[in-house]
Amino acid sequence: MPNILKNISLKPYNTFGLDTSARLFVEVKSLEELQEVVRSSKFKINDVLVLGGGSNILLTQDMDGLVVKNSIQGKEIVSENKEEIVIKVGAGTNWHEFVMYCVEKGYGGVENLSLIPGTVGAAPMQNIGAYGVEIKDVFVQLEALHRFSNKMEIFDNATCEFGYRESIFKHSHKDKYIIVNVTFRLSKRPKLNLDYGAIRDVLAEKEITEPTIKDVSNAVIEIRQSKLPDPKKIGNSGSFFKNPVISKEALLSIRKDYPEIPTYPIDDNSVKVPAGWLIEQAGWKGKTFGSIGVHKKQALVLVNYGAGKGADIKKLSEDIQASIVEKFGVALQAEVNII
Ligand SMILES: Cc1cc2nc3c(=O)[nH]c(=O)nc-3n(C[C@H](O)[C@H](O)[C@H](O)COP(=O)(O)OP(=O)(O)OC[C@H]3O[C@@H](n4cnc5c(N)ncnc54)[C@H](O)[C@@H]3O)c2cc1C
Repeated sequence: MPNILKNISLKPYNTFGLDTSARLFVEVKSLEELQEVVRSSKFKINDVLVLGGGSNILLTQDMDGLVVKNSIQGKEIVSENKEEIVIKVGAGTNWHEFVMYCVEKGYGGVENLSLIPGTVGAAPMQNIGAYGVEIKDVFVQLEALHRFSNKMEIFDNATCEFGYRESIFKHSHKDKYIIVNVTFRLSKRPKLNLDYGAIRDVLAEKEITEPTIKDVSNAVIEIRQSKLPDPKKIGNSGSFFKNPVISKEALLSIRKDYPEIPTYPIDDNSVKVPAGWLIEQAGWKGKTFGSIGVHKKQALVLVNYGAGKGADIKKLSEDIQASIVEKFGVALQAEVNII
């Protein structure tokens, strides 16, 4: 049975750098350890927080229950042929390290998702995505431990019900499963996804005409480093809000005052609008309030400059939401899990 620690600061375990505490804290390194913890009297089903890298959570209070840090590692090749490779990866594996492994080996499919913080096990939770690729594009299945029965269950692509930053684990299956491993299908003859102009621009600047997956990964890393604050330097959780999808009717009404509003097509009736643009127009970009604020380069990112409190960041996010409703009639939804 792994050691269950008492009264632990969660500051090193969340990228916002918020100094809340856990009454009980345990790190699990294998399925067996996890099952022992789930069986133990300390595991009160409704009072457990599963943590990966803590890069998509906002801790607004001390945790009275048990925090389970998932550090289950391991990579297993499930099958392989000339075209593709299927790999099963432990949930506690660092996501970017897994991407780097794939890039070095020449396995294509995840290079556009380079440098996203966090763990492999949390990646399906919100179907992580960046630069035109989502994890669902390479996802085969995951194995998760049911918190109530302590038994493993398999979820394939369809049963995960992936959507834009969504999966079944954020809805009907919320707080019911602990993801133990994820299986991916990667291509040995990758078809590069260069849909994003920013990637093409970096490649052109470097005069790379026949890019490899490593070139694409390097371009993505360069773009991300220039745009997003490094959580090691400034506490943050990446994009705080999802980009809202609005009706074409709503768009026409906003366009009267803001003809330059950027949009991405969704279907005949709706478009996606960058939340960062709306927040910037509402005057929030670069604003600071004591130790917290809105990042100066990217209005979608809320930041903790040091001594900030989760509850204050939550309040700031609510103020931003209210001002966007008032100004544009658009409701922003948090992407970050508020706890
Ligand atoms: C600088 C920065 C940039 C980012 N950029 C992107 C981006 O481009 N695209 C994107 O999609 N996201 C992005 N994110 C968000 C974040 O990196 C991802 O959501 C990531 O998948 C979170 O992983 P994690 O291990 O840190 O999860 P955590 O924050 O630890 O957990 C997130 C949620 O998943 C649950 N959870 C974690 N592990 C498990 C498990 N094994 N089983 C069951 N539940 C679990 C937690 O309880 C919590 O509800 C960014 C974050 C930062 C800080």
